[in-house]
Amino acid sequence: MTTVRSAMAVPLSEAQRLVQRGIREVCEAFDDAYWRECDREGRYPDEFVDTLAEEGWLGALVPEEYGGPGLGTPEVVVMMEEIAASGGGFAGTQAIHGGIYNVPPLVNYASEELKAELLPKLADGEVAVQSLGLTEPNAGSDSTAMETTARRSKDASGRPGNEYVVNGQKLWISRVDRTDYVVLMARTTPRDEVEKRTRGISMFLVDVADVREQGALETRRIPKTAADAVHSFELFFEDARVPARNLVGEEGEGFYQLLDGLNEERLVIAAECIGLGEAALEAGVAYAAEREVFDRPIGKNQAIQHPLAEAFAHLTAAKRVVHDAADRIHDVEREQAGVLANTAKYLAAEAAFEAADAAVQTHGGFGVAREYDVERYFREARLCRLVPIAQELALNYIGTTALDLPRSY
Ligand SMILES: Cc1cc2nc3c(=O)[nH]c(=O)nc-3n(C[C@H](O)[C@H](O)[C@H](O)COP(=O)(O)OP(=O)(O)OC[C@H]3O[C@@H](n4cnc5c(N)ncnc54)[C@H](O)[C@@H]3O)c2cc1C
Repeated sequence: MTTVRSAMAVPLSEAQRLVQRGIREVCEAFDDAYWRECDREGRYPDEFVDTLAEEGWLGALVPEEYGGPGLGTPEVVVMMEEIAASGGGFAGTQAIHGGIYNVPPLVNYASEELKAELLPKLADGEVAVQSLGLTEPNAGSDSTAMETTARRSKDASGRPGNEYVVNGQKLWISRVDRTDYVVLMARTTPRDEVEKRTRGISMFLVDVADVREQGALETRRIPKTAADAVHSFELFFEDARVPARNLVGEEGEGFYQLLDGLNEERLVIAAECIGLGEAALEAGVAYAAEREVFDRPIGKNQAIQHPLAEAFAHLTAAKRVVHDAADRIHDVEREQAGVLANTAKYLAAEAAFEAADAAVQTHGGFGVAREYDVERYFREARLCRLVPIAQELALNYIGTTALDLPRSY
C-alpha cells in the first residue's frame, strides 16, 4: 500500500538518503505515546535529544575541520522533516532546532579562538548553544526596535575595557533551560544614533551559568498551548557582565550577521512544517479508511476525502518548493535567498495547518481527544503560522522584495 509520505516523496541526494535513514532509525525508538506524554506533561524530550547528541546529530552544521559532520541545509531539511513526520511534530524539531541553527553565525563570525574552543564541543554534544535571544516585549516583528543594551566597560584610563554590561528584557526565548549559551542580540549604539536602524546591534555569546552566578539573569517560563515540551522564557538582564571576547563578529554589525543565517533557519522551519503536515495527514487518512459510519468507511464520503486530498496536493507542492529552495539557497544573493525562504515558510505553514485541520475534522469527536495526536498536531500547526516569522511578515517580504512593491512600515 502506498503511504501518504511515499506518495509525496521528492528525489533525494545520496547524502540526504543517509540522513533520512539515520534519523528514521533514531526516531523509531520514540513512538507517538512518548511525544504525547512530553506534550501533556510539558516535559522536554531529554531522552530523544540525548540520543541525537550521542550520535553527533546536534552538531550537524559544524564543519568537518572542527570535528562536525559538515552537513548543509539540504541535509538538515531532511533531518527535521523526518523528526516531525515521525510523530515528534514541531515540538520534536524545536527541541533541537536552536542547537543546530545557532551554529552558522558562530562558524561565520566568531573569532578563531572562540571557534576552536567551542565548535568541537558542539560537534560532540558536550556543550549546547540552544537559545537565540532576539525578541523583546517591544521588538517582535520589528526586531530592530530592541531596547536591550550592551555597553563596553572602560578601564581606569578610560580605554575600552574587557567586558560588556548587558541590561534589558527578552521575550519568548526558547530552551534557556537546556542551553549552556544564549546567542544574544543587543544594541551597542542607540537607535537614534545610527543612520540605519539595522546598524548598532551586536551579537554576543552569553554563558548562562556565568550570568546566573553573577545574579544578573532572571528567567520566567511562559506557559503556552503548543509545543510546550520545549519551554520558552522571559529573560531579565541586570548589569550582566559578558567578556568582550564573547562578542561574535563585528560590533554594530550583529543584525546583518544574524540575517545571514535567518533565511536558512526559516527554510528549515518550513521543512519542520512539512513533516508535521505529513504526520497529520497520515493520521487523518488512516482514520478515514478505518472508521465506519452508516456501514461504510468515512473516507468514502467526498466531504471527508476531498479536504484530505486537497491537503495532500498543497503539502506536496509546498514540499517541492522547500526542497528546491534548500538546493538553491546558498547559490543566490541574500535578497533572493530571503524570497526563497519566506515563500517556502509561508506555503509550508499554510499546508501544515490545512492538513492538521482536515485530520481533526476527519476524526470527528476524537479530533480533540489527546490519544489521537491530531489535536497536538493542530495546535502546533497553528503555532507554525506565527513563528519564527508571522505569515503576514513573510508576505510583506515577498511583496516588497520579489514584487518590488512599496514598504508600508
Ligand atoms: C513558541 C515561541 C517560541 C519562540 N522562540 C523564540 C526564540 O527562541 N528566540 C526569539 O528571539 N524569539 C522567539 N519567539 C518570538 C517570535 O519570533 C515572535 O513571536 C514573532 O517574531 C512575532 O513577533 P510578536 O510575537 O512580537 O508579534 P508582533 O510583532 O506583535 O505582531 C503581532 C501580529 O501583527 C502582525 N503584524 C505586525 N506588523 C505587521 C505589518 N507591518 N504588516 C502586517 N502584519 C503585521 C504580525 O504578523 C502578527 O500577526 C518565539 C515565539 C513563540 C510563540
